[in-house]
Amino acid sequence: MKKYRCQKCGKVWYSSADLRICPECRGELEEANNKYYFTFGSSGQIYEGGWIEIYADSLKEAQEKFITRYGDKAYKRPGILNYSWNYTEEEFKKTIMCTGDNFGSKCHEVIK
Ligand SMILES: [Zn+2]
Repeated sequence: MKKYRCQKCGKVWYSSADLRICPECRGELEEANNKYYFTFGSSGQIYEGGWIEIYADSLKEAQEKFITRYGDKAYKRPGILNYSWNYTEEEFKKTIMCTGDNFGSKCHEVIK
């Protein structure tokens, strides 16, 4: 199921088909997935510092995409995912990483 937001009236629509036009006001729709940021520590993780960005409707879905993307490397230990911290886009924008970097690195990869 994809999530869309109307750029004109702001309404949110869910559809498994591709939607382009708002059914109510005929405004243009944009895909409105949430974005999650997974950060990495200074060593011993998939990347040294920096973060990746994952589009998902929930943290659970973001973690599932992380596991799909990195396979065995996704885990530090069984059941423990191999990143430092996860943020929503809103939370991440409040961090100093957003305008700077994290251990000298920025975004490594965007997973959609
Ligand atoms: Zn609309």
